[in-house]
Amino acid sequence: MTMKKKSKPKIIFPVTYRNVQKEVQERLVEVEMLIDDITKRLKLDHQSSFERSGGCKVCRGRGWIITWDSLSSGDFTEYGQCSESGCTEETRKVSGLDSSWDKYDGFRGTQNPITSSLKYHATVGSLNTTVDELNNKIVDLQNKGKIENGSEVVIMKGRKAPIGFQGRIFWISDSQWGTKVGLINDAGVTQWTYMSNVEKIYDQKSRILCKA
Ligand SMILES: [Zn+2]
Repeated sequence: MTMKKKSKPKIIFPVTYRNVQKEVQERLVEVEMLIDDITKRLKLDHQSSFERSGGCKVCRGRGWIITWDSLSSGDFTEYGQCSESGCTEETRKVSGLDSSWDKYDGFRGTQNPITSSLKYHATVGSLNTTVDELNNKIVDLQNKGKIENGSEVVIMKGRKAPIGFQGRIFWISDSQWGTKVGLINDAGVTQWTYMSNVEKIYDQKSRILCKA
């Protein structure tokens, strides 16, 4: 004799805006990590090439050094020529700048040697475009995923209303406990829950047609 396990029927949820947003966010993290990896590698390569070609460590290949700094906005910072013997315009031409970049470079209009390099644009350029696109997509999903009257939603959590119930929002009201919503499904069944318990359905084709 076998004991029949009584398992709860698994609820199949439709794809929601939140699901899609999460996917896009995960992709964004991946791309950002990839950019970070590539940038770090470029930086290491750049630095070792700077050092191999005898780049000046005193001025970091800039030719100028900070002689006085007020530690404020940089308006009163004073700069001087690099005093390192053997550091000349010619040697700096050979070595280029080292891989660092700080606010003083910014004050002096020195471009970031890594992010302004052709190598960076060739490898990371299109990835940066992807980051912009993904960020735009997230904003778009946030806007389109906003729940209003008429939105098709699914109940994802909550104690009283049935989880997985899908319906159209026909009533929204603020209460002291949070925003409450009323849903009605295709069969005319209504449910009430909190706005925070529902998610807007993204893909209508993924809706699970139900009678109750
Ligand atoms: Zn120098």
